[in-house]
Amino acid sequence: MNSGIRCQFLGGSDEVGNLAMILEIEDMRFLFDYGMSPGKPPTFPLPPPPVDLTFLTHSHLDHCGMIPWLCSQSDHRIITTQPTAMVSNLLQKDTVKIAQMDGYSIPFTSADVKEAEHSYVPVEPGKRRDLGANYSVNYHSAGHIPGALMFELVGDKKLLFTGDLNVIDTRLVRGTKPVQCDMLFMEGTYAGREHENRKQMEREFLEKIDEVINRGGTAIIPAFAVSRSQEILLVLSNAGHDVWFDGMGRKISKLYLKYPKYLHSVNDLKKALKKVNMVHSEQSRKMAMKGEVIITSSGMMDGGPVLSYMNKLKNDRKSAVLLTGYQIPGTNSRLLIEKGKLNFYGVLEKVDCEVQYYDFSAHAGHSELVEFAKRCNPEKIILFHSNDRTPLVEALKDTAEVLTPMKGEQFDL
Ligand SMILES: [Zn+2]
Ligand SMILES: [Zn+2]
Repeated sequence: MNSGIRCQFLGGSDEVGNLAMILEIEDMRFLFDYGMSPGKPPTFPLPPPPVDLTFLTHSHLDHCGMIPWLCSQSDHRIITTQPTAMVSNLLQKDTVKIAQMDGYSIPFTSADVKEAEHSYVPVEPGKRRDLGANYSVNYHSAGHIPGALMFELVGDKKLLFTGDLNVIDTRLVRGTKPVQCDMLFMEGTYAGREHENRKQMEREFLEKIDEVINRGGTAIIPAFAVSRSQEILLVLSNAGHDVWFDGMGRKISKLYLKYPKYLHSVNDLKKALKKVNMVHSEQSRKMAMKGEVIITSSGMMDGGPVLSYMNKLKNDRKSAVLLTGYQIPGTNSRLLIEKGKLNFYGVLEKVDCEVQYYDFSAHAGHSELVEFAKRCNPEKIILFHSNDRTPLVEALKDTAEVLTPMKGEQFDL
């Protein structure tokens, strides 16, 4: 039977990027996330119709990237946590800068980013808010990165929108738990792919760093400024190495310290930050080159300080690049892992350093998603944020009715 709930993805249903979803309940219309795909050139979701309220799950650009444009078009109220608002703002500013440097046009300016700051309505996990008519919304931590939320809408039906989620405790954030619902809107980034045991992987990562240092090399760790670089700092915090920290991750770390309730342990992060050397000048960048470990952005090596380190270390066989996230096709880190080459601002060069990949993902793996969905016990599951949803459809088709909407397609639930 039709529930009178209507839904449409403006982007991000069959891709990891550009997330935006419209949900109509009774006479209300909501927007969930409004992201972009920060490629070269960036891509964007479809424009939204007027909405009553926008829910922002977290500060990754594929979820928050186009919020400044949204706010430049009309007034918006954006429900999110304080750390998400603050970090989103930093990344959006950076996006304008990168677009200018790379010569791509994006449809908003740094003034729009600044203006959008006033549109955020800060909320916290564990709290609720009336939405009008019969519905209210509860906020749950998504376990993905600090400040990430899942939104539970409660009325005639119960709906859960997960955004990006993780179920295991990482060093930086605690994992999330299933929420009983009738309709589950769930991400599927890792559909069909499992993670290696986290503890085992951390051990291998630390052993490799020891090996690189012992043979006289430097371990370069490209890591996303948001959440990944802090996770790596925490993993390294008791290893006793001479660690240097460069890029926007430093600023974001300090910001996270202001919001302790979103962290697994604020004291652990404080301690870890005290142990590392911060790179804040060309002089300290030179000193970092003599250190043992360098954690730096960008995570996919498409820009940022990592390229200046690599330019100096590229022919050093004793050194190693330890990648800490999935390499999206078309990125520099993908090129490095597949071809042993890096693009240095338009010039392709061979890299002699050892290259390894460690899966520090902040997303639930395939089995974890299946388990999460089953324990939410929904009638319907709507899958999004995935390049291939088929493995999840196969795994969940006996649990609930599984929907895999395409971009722009309106459907009734
Ligand atoms: Zn994310
Ligand atoms: Zn995402």
